[in-house]
Amino acid sequence: MKITKVIGWFLLGFLLVLILYNTKIPSIPTPPVIIPYSEFLDLAEQGKVSEVIIIEDNISGKIIKAGKVIPFTCQIPRFDHDLIKTLREYRVPFRAERPSSISSFINFFWATILPGIFLLFLFWFLLFRNMRGPESPFTFGRSRARIFSREEQAKVTFNDVAGVDEAKEELKEIIEFLKDPKKFQRLGARIPKGVLLVGPPGTGKTLLAKAVAGEANVHFSSVSGSDFVEMFVGVGASRVRDLFNQSKKNAPCIIFIDELDAVGRHRGAGIGGGHDEREQTLNQLLVEMDGFNTGEGVILMAASNRPDVLDPALLRPGRFDRHIVVDAPDVVGREGILKVHAKGKIISKNVDLKVLARRTPGFVGSDLANLINEAALLSARRKKRSIGIKELEESIDRVIAGPERKSRLISEKEKRIVAYHEAGHALVAFFTPGSDPIHKISIMPRGISSLGYTLQLPIEDKYLVTKSEILGKMSVLLGGRCAEEIIFGDVTTGAQNDLEKATDIARKMVTEYGMSELGPITFGRGHGEIFLGRDFAREKNYSEESAIKIDNQISAIISSAHERAKGLILKNKEKLKTLSESLIEKEVLETEDVEKILK
Ligand code: ADP
Ligand code: ZN
Repeated sequence: MKITKVIGWFLLGFLLVLILYNTKIPSIPTPPVIIPYSEFLDLAEQGKVSEVIIIEDNISGKIIKAGKVIPFTCQIPRFDHDLIKTLREYRVPFRAERPSSISSFINFFWATILPGIFLLFLFWFLLFRNMRGPESPFTFGRSRARIFSREEQAKVTFNDVAGVDEAKEELKEIIEFLKDPKKFQRLGARIPKGVLLVGPPGTGKTLLAKAVAGEANVHFSSVSGSDFVEMFVGVGASRVRDLFNQSKKNAPCIIFIDELDAVGRHRGAGIGGGHDEREQTLNQLLVEMDGFNTGEGVILMAASNRPDVLDPALLRPGRFDRHIVVDAPDVVGREGILKVHAKGKIISKNVDLKVLARRTPGFVGSDLANLINEAALLSARRKKRSIGIKELEESIDRVIAGPERKSRLISEKEKRIVAYHEAGHALVAFFTPGSDPIHKISIMPRGISSLGYTLQLPIEDKYLVTKSEILGKMSVLLGGRCAEEIIFGDVTTGAQNDLEKATDIARKMVTEYGMSELGPITFGRGHGEIFLGRDFAREKNYSEESAIKIDNQISAIISSAHERAKGLILKNKEKLKTLSESLIEKEVLETEDVEKILK
C-alpha cells in the first residue's frame, strides 16, 4: 500500500505546482475581460480596438471602453477567414504570435497527460479492487494461503467431525506420520504425498483436513484452487511456488487445496485448445509435488467433488495417489453430526436427535450445522429458554428451501417412493434365477441424477450371456417401476433411466443377438465404437416393414418382462413392504440384510 501513497502524494504535489504556475502568469497584469466575438467586431467597426494579437484561434489586445484602455481576450470562430480582412478594413493594428511554450505545455498537460494519468489510476483500481486483503502489485505472485498456527488449529479435532468414520480411519495413518515422521522414515515406509478427499460439497472435507492438522498438532495452510486462476499468465504458477516455499518453512504442516478441479482440470480440455494460465499453474503444481519429499513433513491434501475431470497426471503415484471418499452421511452419521453441533447449545429435553436424523434424508454436514443454527436463531427470536422440537422442524423446511443448501435434498414422501422403487429392483433380482446377487441397496442421493441405487455384483466375469439371463436382467430393471405401480398406484419419472436401459437391451436382442421371433438375423450394421461411440453409427439396411416388426418385437419383449416382474412383486408384496420399510429406516442395506428379509 505504501508505494501507492507515495505516488499519490507525488502526483498531488505536481498538480498543485502546475495550477499555481498556471494562475500566476496572467495574474500580474489586470485580468483581461472576455468579450464575445460579435462585440469585438462591433468595437472594431467603431474604431474602439487599439491593438490585436492573434494566437491561434484566440485574440487578445486592448479596447477602449468608457474612455479607458482595457485588455481583452476573445475566441474566434474557427471558420472566420475574414478576420484579417475586417481588421485591415477598420485599420486595426494587429500581429500574430506563436502560442507561448508554457501555455502550450499546460494545454498539452490537460489534453494528454492528465487523462493518461487518470486512465492509469482507473486501470490500477480495477485491477486490484477485487483482490482480498492488503494487496499491492508487488505481492501479486504470492500465494493467498491462510496459515493457521498450531494453537488456533488445535481447536478442531476428530471429535468435531462425525459420520465419516471410514475416512477418519484412513487418515489416522497420516496423523501418525505427522506426529513422528522419523519413526516411519527409519522403517523406510513410503507415506503418501497427496491425499485427495472426494465427495459432494458440505460433507466436511475441509473440516476433516483441519482435524487431521489438529490431531497431529501441525500447521495448516488452506488455499482454494480458484485462487490460483488469475487472468495473467504466470501468476498462478508463481503462487504455487510461493505456497510450497512458505509451507516448507512451517513444516511439519498440511497444505489443503480446496476445489482442486479449478486448477487440476484435464489439460487441453478447454474449448479452443485449453487455458494457458491454468495449464502453467497445473504444471507448476506437478513440479512442486515431485520436488518435495514427505521427509520434509509436508503433506498435501485436496478436495474435489469432480474427480472425473482431474488431469490424470495429478492422480499418478507420488502425487494425489490416496483417494478418500467423503460421502453424504447416512442416518447414523447424521445423528452423530447433529450431536456434534448440538454440543454447547441448549436443546430442549423432548428433542430426539435420532428422530431428527430420520427426518433429514439427503442432508450433508453443512446442512445439519445450518439446521441447528437456524433453530437456535428462531428460538432466540421467540425468547425460548431452549431450542425446541418445533423450531427444529421449521428449520428443516428452511434449510431445504434455503439458498445456502449446496446438496440435493429429498422429502420424506420422495424417500418412500425411492425406497419402494429400489426394493422392487432388489426383490425381482432376488427371485429371478441366474440373476447377479445383490451387493447393496441405497436410497442416499448421490450425484445429480440418481436418487438411489441397487448394486448387483456378478460372481464371476462373464463373456457370454444367455437369453434367459438377459430377460432376467430386464425384469430387474423394470422391477422398480412395477413396485411403484403396485404400491402407490401411480408411477414417477424416476424410472426413466431403467426404461431406457431396458429398451436398449430389448432392441439389441432383436437387432443384434437374433433372440426374437424374427429369428437369428441381425438388422442394421454397426460401425463399431471407434469414432462416434455407441449407436450413432448404426446404418439402417432393412425395409420399413422390418422396422415395424422390430418395434413390435421390442414392445413384446418389454411387456413380457414387465409382466414377470409384476407377478413376482404381487406374489411377494409383504416382503417388499418389509424390505422397503427397513430401507427407509437404515437407508443402506447390505447383502446379508436383504437376504435375511427376503428368505
Ligand atoms: P466441504 O469442504 O466438504 O465442502 P466443509 O468442511 O466446508 O465441507 O463443511 C462445512 C461445515 O459443515 C463445517 O464447518 C461443519 O460445521 C459442517 N460439517 C460438515 N460436515 C461435517 C461433519 N461430518 N461433522 C460435523 N460437521 C460437519
Ligand atoms: Zn430404478
